[in-house]
Amino acid sequence: MPVFAGFDLGGTQLKYGLMDETGRLVLKSQAPTPSTIDGLMDLIASLWKDLKAQTPDTIRAAGFGFPGIYNVRDRKILQSPNYAELDDFDLYPEIGRVLDVPFLVDNDANMAAYGEWAHGAGRGVSSLVLLTIGTGIGGGIILDGKLWQGSCGYAGEIGHIVVNPEGERCNCGIRGCLEAEAAAPAIVRKYKAILGRTLVSTAEDIYKRAEAGEPAAIEAYAKAGYYLGIGLGMLINLLNPGKILLGGGVMTTGELLLRPTVEEARRRSYKASFACCPIERASLGNDAGTIGSAAWAKAGLSS
Ligand SMILES: [Zn+2]
Repeated sequence: MPVFAGFDLGGTQLKYGLMDETGRLVLKSQAPTPSTIDGLMDLIASLWKDLKAQTPDTIRAAGFGFPGIYNVRDRKILQSPNYAELDDFDLYPEIGRVLDVPFLVDNDANMAAYGEWAHGAGRGVSSLVLLTIGTGIGGGIILDGKLWQGSCGYAGEIGHIVVNPEGERCNCGIRGCLEAEAAAPAIVRKYKAILGRTLVSTAEDIYKRAEAGEPAAIEAYAKAGYYLGIGLGMLINLLNPGKILLGGGVMTTGELLLRPTVEEARRRSYKASFACCPIERASLGNDAGTIGSAAWAKAGLSS
């Protein structure tokens, strides 16, 4: 049976695996992200050898989800805020030296969206938006059954749409981006602002406090949900998607963030459009990028 390899590069770990034709990962693992690009290429080379040795099946293609802004024309990462080693690196010739099958590269959040659409909670809808909420906010858009890359490849940067014109300065330099108002560091910042001063430093700690009923912790999540809902309202009115999925570490908080988000999205969008767009949690968890990259590579073979 043919299998497809997926690689999902994160700031600390390179996740990878082999997916069968049904979208199931038949093998998955991870390795620490090397600090240099040469180290990364060496790692990919040795993992590729291992994968081929470990499977009795034929690996038909491979997909790579890399963090950063991916230019589809130059086939390079233009800018990777969290892994600058990738910036402008000539990916295709270098990976091509290592791999002996067809391969594709794209942005990691796009790959996660593709994975959820092909094999996760987004199955069955033609248009889908995925937001991954962690230390930042990544996004990916599927429109009419196709990954929406945009004219240069930069589409889906939902974390950097402005939801609060007078808001916090984002890592990208713009003020009031969704990421600056609703990602994990923003939740911590909001919590500190409510209490004046606190020693709590992670969104996870604040989540535990919210679970225990602490009003300031619940309010911090509600404020993040308010801005997230504004962002989703824009997406609903703009794209009329069949589903919006929310994934990433911050979404493990259950209803705490989801409920205020959905409420605000309802207030900020056309009733008819909101009614046909369920807002749900993504289902593939940490495997979304690996499965998406593999599924994207599989789709590339037949396009
Ligand atoms: Zn930004």
